[in-house]
Amino acid sequence: MQFIDLKKQYNILKEEIDKSISKVLDDSHYIGGLEVKQLAEELAQYCGVKHCLTCGNGTDALTIALRCLGVGKGDAVFVPTFTFFASAETVALEGATCIFVDVDPRTFNIDSVKLDKAISKVIKEGKLNPKCVIAVDLFGQPADFPTIRKVTDKYGLLIIEDGAQGFGGSIEGKKACSFGDISTTSFFPAKPLGCYGDGGAIFTDNDEYYALMSSLAVHGKGSYKYDNIRIGYNSRLDTIQAAILLPKLHAFDNYELRDRNKIAEKYKQLLEKEFITPYVPQGFISSWAQYTIILDNLEQRERIQARLKENGIPTMIYYPIPMHKQTAFSGYNFNVDDLKEAENLCDRVLSIPMHPYLDNETIEFIANSLIESK
Ligand SMILES: *Cc1c(COP(=O)(O)O)cnc(C)c1O
Repeated sequence: MQFIDLKKQYNILKEEIDKSISKVLDDSHYIGGLEVKQLAEELAQYCGVKHCLTCGNGTDALTIALRCLGVGKGDAVFVPTFTFFASAETVALEGATCIFVDVDPRTFNIDSVKLDKAISKVIKEGKLNPKCVIAVDLFGQPADFPTIRKVTDKYGLLIIEDGAQGFGGSIEGKKACSFGDISTTSFFPAKPLGCYGDGGAIFTDNDEYYALMSSLAVHGKGSYKYDNIRIGYNSRLDTIQAAILLPKLHAFDNYELRDRNKIAEKYKQLLEKEFITPYVPQGFISSWAQYTIILDNLEQRERIQARLKENGIPTMIYYPIPMHKQTAFSGYNFNVDDLKEAENLCDRVLSIPMHPYLDNETIEFIANSLIESK
């Protein structure tokens, strides 16, 4: 059994994907081909955002977004401590300071009340300039943007939505990757919408941001590639990856997102009496990048994980270490008191197989194995 069965998906979409790749090989426009433009247009339309810029990966997308907002030394950027390292790494790379914020243990996403406190504390201390919030759509569920936006508006901060795991999710019908002043996503193969290598995208409604980020992604180009007006990056999605993503986006939109939600519902029915299953607030839809349950403690998790492994069921721990405990951030000072929900989750979360091609029999086998090894 695969944790995320990319091979099964490929076998189902093979004809379309192979045809799409072949066309790129025939055209031989490997960089910046027609498919790249078409994909950006379709992604913008899917997310309901004015502009989409494809790029090299989800980490570059965050870096380019931070550069666009002028984030640098002396700035404070508020980041949930329970996330993938890139959400925080990119802030440090720009020379800014990460202020880690605890998460709501029910949604795994940034806690807006604690966010408010963290911002007001930084303002009171007066050492750093509060600049923006990176809110992460962890495990496929959008962060609580309506509430976060109230907090950021109160202090005049901007929002970057790290939608690397969130593509396809929504709040009251509004799609993930449309909530930030700038939003980013990743097409790493295991993400809800993945390509067959690295890829990413950046979304914004703001024309000026879009123009600046388009320049930053291509060596700080001016009127054309050999007119360089700022220091930038080389970050692009190649044509073959765009050609792979086009049929995959159509499958995602036509049935995969629906099927992911059916599978999550089935898991919930089978598991909710025995375990803490994911909580999806009213009006929210997750794209289920992960299906993550909460166990009693570390010992129980180790026991269950070992038993499942014996049954041939792969599981993962997202994430074992919060950002404020990462060695790379050991030089930072934190208000660790307030980060205890994330610390607690790191010891108790367990992610189980989740992809749109899981059949009922397998779901039941996984659920029964979990209950039996409890
Ligand atoms: C995967 C991921 C990224 C980085 O994406 P890459 O394409 O691997 O660079 C950033 N943030 C989060 C939350 C992620 O899960």
